[in-house]
Amino acid sequence: MARWRGWGGVVARVVAAMARPLRFEHNRWLGDKRTQRAHDLDHATDACAIDELMTSEQFAAFGPDTLPEARNRGYHPCRHCVPHGTVVDD
Ligand SMILES: [Zn+2]
Repeated sequence: MARWRGWGGVVARVVAAMARPLRFEHNRWLGDKRTQRAHDLDHATDACAIDELMTSEQFAAFGPDTLPEARNRGYHPCRHCVPHGTVVDD
């Protein structure tokens, strides 16, 4: 699914929906506080339900914006966008 591929679509949707998390424009990792899942927005799929997460406002950013930092905060990599539990760079 290409729906969430790249930041352009995500930011456009988020801005249109709530005109707020512009800070996520430069973030790659997005945590779901309800499930303690960390999503890789570069590889997010429909199954990640990012727009639902944004709507819920139960999301978290990480600083630094890395998977190790997400793990340090107790988040587990999402099995949809981090299928092997490691970062995929392409
Ligand atoms: Zn995900």
